[in-house]
Amino acid sequence: MIKTAVIEELKKIVGEGEVLTTKEALKAYSYDGTTNWIREPDVVVFPKNTIQISEILKVANREKVPVTPRGGGTNVSGGSVPWMGGIVLCTTKMNNILKIDKENLTCTVECGVVLQDLNNALLKEGLFFPPDPQSFLGATIGGIIAENAGGPACVKYGVTKQYVLGLEVVLPTGEVVNLGGRTLKNVVGYDLLHLFISSEGTLGVITKAELKLNPLPPSRKTIVAVYDDVTKAGETVFRVLENGVIPGKIELLDNWVINRIEEMMPMGLPRDADAMLLFECDGIDEAVQKETEKVVDISKKYGATDVRVAKDTDEANRYWMARRAGFAAVFGKAKTVLSEDVTVPRGKIPDLIKKSKEIAKKYGLELVMLGHAGDGNLHPSFLTDISNKEHYEKATKAMEEIIYAAVELGGVLSGEHGIGLEKQKFFTRVTDPKVVDLMKKIKALLDPNNIMNPGKIWE
Ligand SMILES: Cc1cc2nc3c(=O)[nH]c(=O)nc-3n(C[C@H](O)[C@H](O)[C@H](O)COP(=O)(O)OP(=O)(O)OC[C@H]3O[C@@H](n4cnc5c(N)ncnc54)[C@H](O)[C@@H]3O)c2cc1C
Repeated sequence: MIKTAVIEELKKIVGEGEVLTTKEALKAYSYDGTTNWIREPDVVVFPKNTIQISEILKVANREKVPVTPRGGGTNVSGGSVPWMGGIVLCTTKMNNILKIDKENLTCTVECGVVLQDLNNALLKEGLFFPPDPQSFLGATIGGIIAENAGGPACVKYGVTKQYVLGLEVVLPTGEVVNLGGRTLKNVVGYDLLHLFISSEGTLGVITKAELKLNPLPPSRKTIVAVYDDVTKAGETVFRVLENGVIPGKIELLDNWVINRIEEMMPMGLPRDADAMLLFECDGIDEAVQKETEKVVDISKKYGATDVRVAKDTDEANRYWMARRAGFAAVFGKAKTVLSEDVTVPRGKIPDLIKKSKEIAKKYGLELVMLGHAGDGNLHPSFLTDISNKEHYEKATKAMEEIIYAAVELGGVLSGEHGIGLEKQKFFTRVTDPKVVDLMKKIKALLDPNNIMNPGKIWE
């Protein structure tokens, strides 16, 4: 329990109105995008600048009070749940876009800028920030960097770490450091910048970022390919890529997801299909035209029963809205949802799908499958209820087997959501102990009092 005197000190740093301690507020900041991790903080603070964050961390470090950084709170691994209580440091009031540098295709932003706000501002300049987690309406740049988030566009454009040139970080001791810079190339000593990308709030607070941008592609086409067998859809993904086309996006939705979306917002999706793939080709007009034709041909060759090119932007937008609704469709249908983000080499997607189906069958469970198939990153999900012990245990065991199957196929247990609380027991089992030890030494060096997001990644 945090001392009253410490709360008073926090009020002096950020102002009385920026410190919350009411029962309702603590409840509101006790959870994130997961359905099964909840823990209340002692206090929530809303700093407005780097100096305030530095002062907060100095106090926390002196008093050995846990600090959990929080952006939009949209992560799905328990990352921003204050597992050891203490301070939730919420960055949403540090939401200034400081500079858009069109000449150098970069921008400088504060950590609390919401991704959609950034892209709205960039749109006016004909630019965009490619990594596109589907939580873009709430996810902040700090959270996106701390989770190394990705999304549909990562097939062609890559994940967040490929777009971070520089960071300002407040270390747990309160010291402020600048890592990386503003250039595309930078080989000056150890690459500490990337240590903070995917650090899940355990090494310090990211306060500012220098980001790389891309010009908006002038042309786009959306293609829907329908399958009577989800594994054929999985095969098409790598067949398209091996045939020399790298679409901007390749997403997969299975029959269960298609039907839940149709119930929420009828739009004529193929309800009988076992699965559908959603492609987007983007770039200059002539290239998009040729790539689209190739995607259509290859999809047909590898088993699509129907392939359709969206006739206009409206139709294309509807398909992508459906894809975005996929997550809500899954999470809105059960009290507890076990949804993973395993990632395999793309050639192994059909094997992962086959194996997941076998495992689900063995446990008598209904498997739901959607995800960023173009990255080999799928979200196998089970709908369950934590209060139904028997069902929950079955779902947990089945999911464990899927995770190990993905690792055996040469994959990883998390492609984008991070370890947080959700995947700790797998993390230590599938990671070389020498690597875990090295990570713990780095953590101890930067955060000797273990105040930054304690209880995450490992116990
Ligand atoms: C509907 C939905 C769709 C999603 N789709 C995707 C997707 O397509 N791809 C994907 O990758 N993820 C996805 N996610 C997961 C999530 O949105 C991302 O992990 C996102 O990056 C989190 O951003 P946030 O601002 O909400 O961070 P939070 O949830 O607040 O925090 C995430 C982690 O980052 C740390 N953190 C936050 N801010 C800082 C900071 N300034 N400095 C240091 N650490 C910090 C926190 O302590 C925590 O560990 C989805 C989630 C939802 C709910």
